[in-house]
Amino acid sequence: MARYTGSVCRLCRREGTKLFLKGDKCYGTKCPVALRPTPPGEHGHARVRKQSEYGVQLREKQKAKRAYGVLENQFHRYFEKAESQRGITGDNLLITLERRLDNVVYRLGYAENRAQARQMVTHGHFEVNGIPSDIPSMILKPGDLIGIREKSAESDHFKSLREGTGKVVPKWLTIDAPNLKATVDAMPKREDIDLTIQENLIVELYSR
Ligand code: SF4
Repeated sequence: MARYTGSVCRLCRREGTKLFLKGDKCYGTKCPVALRPTPPGEHGHARVRKQSEYGVQLREKQKAKRAYGVLENQFHRYFEKAESQRGITGDNLLITLERRLDNVVYRLGYAENRAQARQMVTHGHFEVNGIPSDIPSMILKPGDLIGIREKSAESDHFKSLREGTGKVVPKWLTIDAPNLKATVDAMPKREDIDLTIQENLIVELYSR
């Protein structure tokens, strides 16, 4: 599947906000968004102008897509699914994205960022409910158990994670670090998702 392979900081600068695509480095003083808060490119500063309503809505969609590392067609499918569910479409959309296996691996602190989490999943390090799973887009549900495959658990990376990652795990997940096991306890709520995305604008965009 096609993936964006350019500079991820460029994506944050384009959206004018931190998308936290590099993990811990994003909290440092060298974050380009903090240093140069203008769009990328030679004429980036000239592109800072008042946006149309459509432009603002489009940027919110791009932010969500880029934060979760999802391409257009797949993102649109998530939207259609969210629209068909009960409740608030924007909330449904973000809650579905949040339950992707690669995002859960990231939230558990097993990976520094979602891109690394996706790679770890595709490399076959994880199992869900005891069944090997290498599909980053797998949507998890309450009660699902995430484990590390026996061979992978012997690697230095996972051995070090047995001591805990020091990261705060969202309250809808629990982690048993010494045993490298985790559980989805509940559905995430919108307030559990720390991204500054105005999902209502995404809904407006797709409703045009
Ligand atoms: Fe780069 Fe992270 Fe800053 Fe985004 S938030 S610009 S990925 S360092």
